[in-house]
Amino acid sequence: MNIRRGFKTEAKSLALELRTELGLGPYVPFDPYALAAEYGISVVALSELDCAERAHFLKRDGSALSGALIPDGTSVIILDNDAQMVVRRRTTMSHELAHVVLEHAFGLSLADERKCGLGGAQEEEADWLAGELLVPYGAALRLARAGATDEIVAQRMDVSLAVARWRMNGSGARKVAARARSRWASTRR
Ligand SMILES: [Zn+2]
Repeated sequence: MNIRRGFKTEAKSLALELRTELGLGPYVPFDPYALAAEYGISVVALSELDCAERAHFLKRDGSALSGALIPDGTSVIILDNDAQMVVRRRTTMSHELAHVVLEHAFGLSLADERKCGLGGAQEEEADWLAGELLVPYGAALRLARAGATDEIVAQRMDVSLAVARWRMNGSGARKVAARARSRWASTRR
């Protein structure tokens, strides 16, 4: 399933708009918890649930969901698995929030790794918008021009190494920066 034409461009500017609403420029770490608050979305930590409720969200092998989007009347609740690493929680939160912002139709969305089962295009759109929120294209490009490694990007934007690598390469930022560098080098010859 492919992302529809034009979506990536829209996601780029939508992410910047959402960041602006929170008083965040493109070059600083994203704050998914602030966005949830802005949208009136309650975030419930898995550890806050009582045992019976928690067991419901834990799998038999003891692993748990990364997160979940639960309809609650006209709003939604995001279940945040606070046993996981912060960078992973930030990614899951951003993915779930992207579904809300994009007004994806959902019943119950349970995030397992990077899929919450909403189906092809919606998952890809949520992933892409989450990526733009966490590492906006402008930030990726600026970091690529500066020759930043995945480790530096991860640190600077407070994301996992995997997300940093995905954004720097998948967004095309490194390719664009490298092309510009070689153009510049050839004019100097
Ligand atoms: Zn999803």
